[in-house]
Amino acid sequence: MQIRNFAIIAHVDHGKSTLADRMLEKTGTVKVGSGNQLLDTMELEREKGITIKLNPARMFYEVKHPQIPNPKTQIPNNIQIPKTPDFRLQTSDLRLSDSTYQLNLIDTPGHVDFGYEVSRSLAAVEGVLLLVDASQGIQAQTLTNLQLAKQNHLVIIPVVNKIDLPHAQSEETAQQLVKVLQCAEDDICFVSGKTGEGVDELLEAIVQRIPPPKSQPDEPLQALVFDSFFDVFLGVVAYVKVVSGSLKKNQPLMMRVTGVNFDCLQAGYLQIKRIDNGQLANGEIGYVATGLKTVHDCRVGDTIVASATTSALPGYQISKPMIFASFFPEPGKERELTVALDKLKLSDASLSYEPVSSKALGPGYSIGFLGLLHLEIIKERLNREFDINILVTTPSVAYKQENGQWLEPWVELEVVCPQEHYGAVSDLVAQNRAEFINVEYVADRVVCHYEAPLSEVINDFYDKLKSVTSGYASMDYQLKDYRPADLVAVDLLVAGDKIDALTQYMVRSKAESYGRRLVEKLKELIPRQNFEVTLQAAIGGKIIARSDISAVRKDVTAKLYGGDVTRKNKLLDKQRKGKKRMRQLGRVEVPSEVFVELLKK
Ligand code: GDP
Ligand code: MG
Repeated sequence: MQIRNFAIIAHVDHGKSTLADRMLEKTGTVKVGSGNQLLDTMELEREKGITIKLNPARMFYEVKHPQIPNPKTQIPNNIQIPKTPDFRLQTSDLRLSDSTYQLNLIDTPGHVDFGYEVSRSLAAVEGVLLLVDASQGIQAQTLTNLQLAKQNHLVIIPVVNKIDLPHAQSEETAQQLVKVLQCAEDDICFVSGKTGEGVDELLEAIVQRIPPPKSQPDEPLQALVFDSFFDVFLGVVAYVKVVSGSLKKNQPLMMRVTGVNFDCLQAGYLQIKRIDNGQLANGEIGYVATGLKTVHDCRVGDTIVASATTSALPGYQISKPMIFASFFPEPGKERELTVALDKLKLSDASLSYEPVSSKALGPGYSIGFLGLLHLEIIKERLNREFDINILVTTPSVAYKQENGQWLEPWVELEVVCPQEHYGAVSDLVAQNRAEFINVEYVADRVVCHYEAPLSEVINDFYDKLKSVTSGYASMDYQLKDYRPADLVAVDLLVAGDKIDALTQYMVRSKAESYGRRLVEKLKELIPRQNFEVTLQAAIGGKIIARSDISAVRKDVTAKLYGGDVTRKNKLLDKQRKGKKRMRQLGRVEVPSEVFVELLKK
């Protein structure tokens, strides 16, 4: 049986997961009508309607026209397709005929924060479907993902998606793709992940254009770990691509980089759920259950081998956190937070953390994130999956000090929008200390390149960009370098107590307005106490903003006296629930969310 490994990449919401549903249906992997975005299995993914994790799935596809690849087919990045597939795979599944292809698809997230999931997926495949929503056209992540696919020397199948939409601009979108890929219009597949139109043709294109994985079944085993998660019964479960050799259940194996030995408890593939078929053949994508218990034993990017004499595959670049915030658990949950972070780290290789201790807030962790959405998701997962309520400090970029000089991180910023919005984008970036680099014209849109301080880009820049372009612009950024910055520390004092963990570094020009916003917002959010509370922001002991919350004896049920007892209890209950989300700042209670909210406004 022949194998095709591919990933679906696109800007967020361009329909990757929905197209994956149709492929699963057309190949008979799931029944028609099984649901939407089936590969988004995490509760948070389903609720938010976004993909957070990469998700592999295996399908079996019976080709309609078994034949050698069409030599006329243009491959955009000059990858040669082998004229005849040059190997056969031994497989235990004898029902499968020669014209059946094993398709291993990896659905990926599209949001800028989760690019690391995409880059790891791409190391496991030979081709990609580059999807573009026909009503949106090319967006920033379309270009970033395209770049990644090219760097990995993958075959790219350009796909115009959502052609069923009444306002679809399929032709214009195709022209944009022709321009950026330098491909022929004939190379483009037109599909609707919603109606299924064009999906059969797309499946054909996959088997015809994407080359099979390199065949090296007789070489020593090397399986690249591109993802992992923790299962209570199976221990660490690694998602792998078997690059050379093959592996079987019960085989003694080893993580080449960490040097940890284990027996393969299960091996198989993912098809919404895990299918344990006892082996993984050469070239296949699937999972290995290792029974390993700790995060330190299994690292994404490691290579599973059968013998210590086999070398490791080149791993991935370690992801660099973009922003940092400290997480302080509710008292008594410190140990649980440590365990929870270790577990989350297994399914989220980009998470990095180290313990911190605050006089005001107790022990906690300083955590590095890829962006604000990433932060929010980790906080949400800690709350849902581990029942830990967290106080999050204001996120900040990582500043550095060198020879007494503060340095701040700068990024390469790319903004993509229709030409008519170019002026508005220019105005906006000018207000954010950004430097113009250049602008390219791609069909009817512009791709603008800037360099900007990361601190300007991570907070409300994206929302503002959306609002000045009526939602038409998209952006992406990558860390570039560190440059000198005029930084000050803004301290927060609550009822006279300096809250050490909430000291925030920032450029001097923004400090005063930040300080004012901080105390105003806190005044709104902190419930009145039975004593007067002074809120102050200070730079080096000098108060720059102040606000007072007057004292009140709070009695929410007072107006209900003499009334219905159940109503009164309900109200108290509601208040108690609300309390769970409150945290102690010195003598004063504040809601857990307050400091992250501050950045968004
Ligand atoms: P992803 O972020 O790329 O995985 O996108 P999703 O598959 O989650 O889809 C985003 C939104 O677009 C959802 O509301 C889908 O219902 C919708 N959608 C996806 N594909 C199509 C399509 O072909 N046609 C139409 N009309 N809507 C689609
Ligand atoms: Mg998705």
